[in-house]
Amino acid sequence: MELSNRILNITQGGSDGWEVLYRARDMIRDGIDVYDLTQGEHDIKTETAILDAMDASVRAGHTGYSPVAGEPELRQAIASRVQAQTSVETKPSNVMVTTGGQAALFAAHAAVLDHGDTGLYCDPYYATYGGVIRAVGAKAQTIPTQSSNDFKPTKEALNAHAPNARSLLINSPNNPTGVVYGRETLTTIADVCKAHDLWLISDEVYDCQVWDRDHISPRSLPDMAERTIVIGSMSKSHAMTGFRCGWVIAPEDVVDHIFNLSNVTTYGVAGFVQQAALFALTHGTDIERRVADVFRRRRILTQDALKNIPALRLIPSSGAMYQMIDIQATGMTGQEFAFKLLEKHKIAVMPGESFGPSAAGHIRVALTLEDSKLVVALHILAEFAQQQTSNGVSHATT
Ligand code: PLP
Repeated sequence: MELSNRILNITQGGSDGWEVLYRARDMIRDGIDVYDLTQGEHDIKTETAILDAMDASVRAGHTGYSPVAGEPELRQAIASRVQAQTSVETKPSNVMVTTGGQAALFAAHAAVLDHGDTGLYCDPYYATYGGVIRAVGAKAQTIPTQSSNDFKPTKEALNAHAPNARSLLINSPNNPTGVVYGRETLTTIADVCKAHDLWLISDEVYDCQVWDRDHISPRSLPDMAERTIVIGSMSKSHAMTGFRCGWVIAPEDVVDHIFNLSNVTTYGVAGFVQQAALFALTHGTDIERRVADVFRRRRILTQDALKNIPALRLIPSSGAMYQMIDIQATGMTGQEFAFKLLEKHKIAVMPGESFGPSAAGHIRVALTLEDSKLVVALHILAEFAQQQTSNGVSHATT
């Protein structure tokens, strides 16, 4: 029996670029003590007060079906939060609660792309982006960016790809680069979307982790609310990755149609999970700040540990829980560097190539190790990089 092309094409076959992570996991399973700086998964746990709220909800009998679009109180809390952050009028009817940001990404693309349409996204990219676009039967097309331009898309590159496309997916603060788009970049993106009549899908799951500037949602730019779908999530802001609670912010008619999609797929998010999210969102900003502070602190520790290392160039990260590092001075690819670092020093980082060709010759460090271990790992990494350069190790010789 043959499967559909749509499902067969979600992954493109061959290597998925995550071999270093799989190797690190094997080593950990074998009892080897690995400094694991691969995944965007918090080392800190969900705060007890949130767990208590979920426990109370379950025990109070909140175990049945819940409204498919989300509990009204949670939709209201999310709408109020978004409106307070962006000053764009946002009603509960603009909010659809989803099983994590991932399901929101799928719902948004399903809502705006027909079979055979082209959905754009910037390279480097979060691992699932291409697959999400292909999963709705559309063509996934990347827009290359340059390390020298801090991986921000240029007007020329956007305009070159926009004419045949129907949507553009952006992510600021960015995974994997940590780069936060400023007003100028976002205005360029908005202008291109308007000129070419594109939907803008803005993945803002790291909106609460912005270190040295304001987070700007492109939905707040002139005439953009009607063509922008924002992806949000509790995963990163409240260390709640496993709860699977996210949302879409969109014009009301888009939300209505996404409701129909949820009706035939997830049929809503567990009520007790929504109650936990509601508790987290309505009990002040302290929990969120405590989660963000961990990464704010580690970013500074990282920049201190890696400054003045000629073999390394840090991409100026302003947000999210990652530091992208240009290692081209070592003459190695990101993959060679990451594999050798893992085998030699038991330090696991992601090769830039895992996130698309634009990040070749880079590595991504997730700041997800406790401070003192992180600093030790970074010092070893820096020394390793320097040795590769002074050994004259090059791509061709390793
Ligand atoms: N978007 C980006 C950029 C991410 O990094 C992630 C997870 O790492 C997601 C979306 C999905 O997050 P969620 O856990 O909310 O599904």
